[in-house]
Amino acid sequence: MFELLTEMVSNQRVTDDTWLMGLRSAEIAQTAKPGQFVMIRVRPGLDPLLRRPFSICGVRDDLLLVLYRVVGKGTSLMTGLREGERMWVLGPLGKGFAVPENRTGRLLVGGGIGIAPLLFLGQFHREKKVTFMMGFRSAKDIIFPERITGEDTSFLVAPDDGTKGHPGPVTDLLEKLLSKNPGEVAIYACHGSENTLSGLSGSPHGLRFRGLPGVRGESVCGFRQKLLSCMQRRAGL
Ligand SMILES: Cc1cc2nc3c(=O)[nH]c(=O)nc-3n(C[C@H](O)[C@H](O)[C@H](O)COP(=O)(O)OP(=O)(O)OC[C@H]3O[C@@H](n4cnc5c(N)ncnc54)[C@H](O)[C@@H]3O)c2cc1C
Repeated sequence: MFELLTEMVSNQRVTDDTWLMGLRSAEIAQTAKPGQFVMIRVRPGLDPLLRRPFSICGVRDDLLLVLYRVVGKGTSLMTGLREGERMWVLGPLGKGFAVPENRTGRLLVGGGIGIAPLLFLGQFHREKKVTFMMGFRSAKDIIFPERITGEDTSFLVAPDDGTKGHPGPVTDLLEKLLSKNPGEVAIYACHGSENTLSGLSGSPHGLRFRGLPGVRGESVCGFRQKLLSCMQRRAGL
């Protein structure tokens, strides 16, 4: 873990309320694992007093990428930062996702800003068969993975308002894929809002994060249990 004064090299708007920031830190970029996060002091001084936590959504050489949604004071201040400005960053923090090497595929299911850590996971496992399934409020809120990682990625989207892709919850896409029996896959789920993945526990495939034989669920995030990773064997599919 490092605490470093990093240079901000890019800060671009991705959707109406979501931005992508690139911070130069070889130390963090080279040691970070998917599911880990950093704490950012958005400006010097006492206001805001606390550092803000953000998942690492990717790395490019010595750059650390952070995808952030503007919700309050700290994130609003971040949108005004310009290239060359410096920010204190603490990280990488958290234990990261458990990575089962023996699974042939990766299903990454996320909602809204919850896709941030999954993007890094997809980048990390680009040699595996990775399928992204993403839920957003509307077509205009879609965050295209290649825009973040710079890599061509296959993905399925399910905006809540049915304006593009699958008209329904993102968990429908997962159900559909599982019903085709995709074999040994690891499923990682991460939600940006409280209800995005609530459909999982009612799934006929018995997808529950806890208590089901063959399924191990764990949180990689000690705060508000927002990031969950779930590993599933074929049994019961
Ligand atoms: C481990 C971890 C990883 C995270 N990763 C990311 C990430 O990759 N990208 C990202 O955008 N965010 C992420 N978050 C959430 C992020 O830390 C907060 O959105 C951020 O700290 C808000 O700071 P702020 O100063 O803008 O808002 P504040 O001024 O602290 O809050 C302003 C208002 O917004 C509300 N609010 C705060 N956070 C949220 C939220 N997440 N959703 C809705 N309302 C909120 C508060 O209740 C308050 O009313 C993560 C949080 C944790 C704990």
